[in-house]
Amino acid sequence: MPSYSLTHLADAALLRGLTTLVAQDRATTAALLAHLAEVDARKLYLPAAYSSLHEYCVKQLNWCEQAAYKRIRAARAASEHPAIFTAVAEGRLHLSAVVLLSPHLTQENADELITGATHRSKAEVETMLAERFPRTEALGLVQAVGAQESVMVPVSPGSTPGMCDQLSPGTVVQTHFADSKPARSVAPLAQHRFEMRVSMGGEVHAKLQRAQDLLRHQIPAGELERVLERALDALIEKLERRKFAATTQPRAPRPSRSRQGGRHIPANIRRAVWERDRGQCTFVSDAGRRCESRRFLEFDHAEPVARGGESSVANLHLRCRAHNQFMAERTYGAEFMRQKREKARERAAERSRVRDCETELAPCLEQLGFRKIEIRRAAEHCATLPGVSIEQRVRAALRILSPARPPRVLVAAPHGAQSAFTASTSFETAPLASPNSIEQRGS
Ligand SMILES: [Zn+2]
Repeated sequence: MPSYSLTHLADAALLRGLTTLVAQDRATTAALLAHLAEVDARKLYLPAAYSSLHEYCVKQLNWCEQAAYKRIRAARAASEHPAIFTAVAEGRLHLSAVVLLSPHLTQENADELITGATHRSKAEVETMLAERFPRTEALGLVQAVGAQESVMVPVSPGSTPGMCDQLSPGTVVQTHFADSKPARSVAPLAQHRFEMRVSMGGEVHAKLQRAQDLLRHQIPAGELERVLERALDALIEKLERRKFAATTQPRAPRPSRSRQGGRHIPANIRRAVWERDRGQCTFVSDAGRRCESRRFLEFDHAEPVARGGESSVANLHLRCRAHNQFMAERTYGAEFMRQKREKARERAAERSRVRDCETELAPCLEQLGFRKIEIRRAAEHCATLPGVSIEQRVRAALRILSPARPPRVLVAAPHGAQSAFTASTSFETAPLASPNSIEQRGS
């Protein structure tokens, strides 16, 4: 049992001991970051029934939320740039500096930034980064929030009814920097009492006032706490009905929609699974710990659909997204699931390109008389043409669409185009004299 009483030590011995311990602490911190990075890479928190590394650090390792956040950020940065491990072990960088540097580090500038932050205080590193990466966007955000946003006055025991009704603009200015942990918006005040701070835009403020006005008969003073409770009750009921078919008046399942095969899950089955699993992830670790996540819940087929599994109550379980993916990787292999996710991302990116292209083409093609379904078809084609101007896109769209339906109008370029143009049945274009003018030609 070590003794923590050091009164017997001479001053020099005390300082020597402190210096030795600090060096050991730095070496331990670097080793701890390396272990944390490897646990993160292997996702070892998942089989232990935690849905995230942060949750594992807080609940299994008993770190406070801030320590967990800082060490995870530092471990991930060090994993990308291993020179950080050595810098931490040698005491050249403290964890706060690593967290500040992390969003700015690239393979090209890592050595330079680490050298620049060596033996600097947190404030000095912030100054260095501000000079090198000016945050003009953040300044704009502060001004915008201060000028436009409103703040909910905290609800506390003994608050005067109606006090929270007063929404004074610009009371609090919030700043959000990429390298700082988001501020907590809800904090405990006393037993069963919490303080919530939130800034909001003008539209949200108007909706809040509208809700207060509509509830005046039931809540004459318009207390925010009571209005929020009513709003949240309605929202939760709606979301549970949509996600898990929750209802107090369940209907008998319709035979045509209650097919047991395929991925479709009938409402009565979703409801039964949700109630049985009590709205919580059902993953259980080998040690018997059940995942506590109630977020990002998904329905998981114990026997996969691809292998003939049915959408039945017995074959379905609630899983959080992390454990659903973890179980899928166990079943199909990590590489197969990685490729599947990659394909899903590519499909999503493709859909996004088509949507952007459709938005770009619609003003022009609608004036030419094309229908939405035709514009979508043209957009699907034009989205495959990288790096072309809007005029070239429109020409390509007309080549696709015109054989079936020749346009007969002269039309101005859509908003944002560099110049106006005409479209003709021969698919050629020519500049118009006046941008934005629309000239009808023919019937
Ligand atoms: Zn889970």
